[in-house]
Amino acid sequence: MTKREIQRWAKEIIEDGIEKINNGRGEIYENEDGEKIVSVFLGTVFQIFPSGKYYTPWARSNLEPCPQCRGKGCNFCGNLGSREAFEDQLFYEELERQAEKYNAWITNGEGDPCDIFLEKYTK
Ligand SMILES: [Zn+2]
Repeated sequence: MTKREIQRWAKEIIEDGIEKINNGRGEIYENEDGEKIVSVFLGTVFQIFPSGKYYTPWARSNLEPCPQCRGKGCNFCGNLGSREAFEDQLFYEELERQAEKYNAWITNGEGDPCDIFLEKYTK
């Protein structure tokens, strides 16, 4: 995916999530401070991330190495050594940026870190 495609994809996902919240399809819960938060499920990492893969910064052996530098680091992979990791990073940053426009934020599921939720304060 190109950077532009990734940004458009992230924007669509956030707009979908906000629409669900506005249509009352989010789940409301109270945090430790008694603030009400509405939460909506966006999808799993496997469904929405450009790579469709789950990994951690210390264990990313399932990622393809960058075809240009073979893992050494270059512009094409943002010096991460893997274009897939770079695309996922761009995507996640864009998700957060888009969510901020609605005073919302992105969070991982407590039960399953592969689940991605959009949340914001509500009344
Ligand atoms: Zn590279």
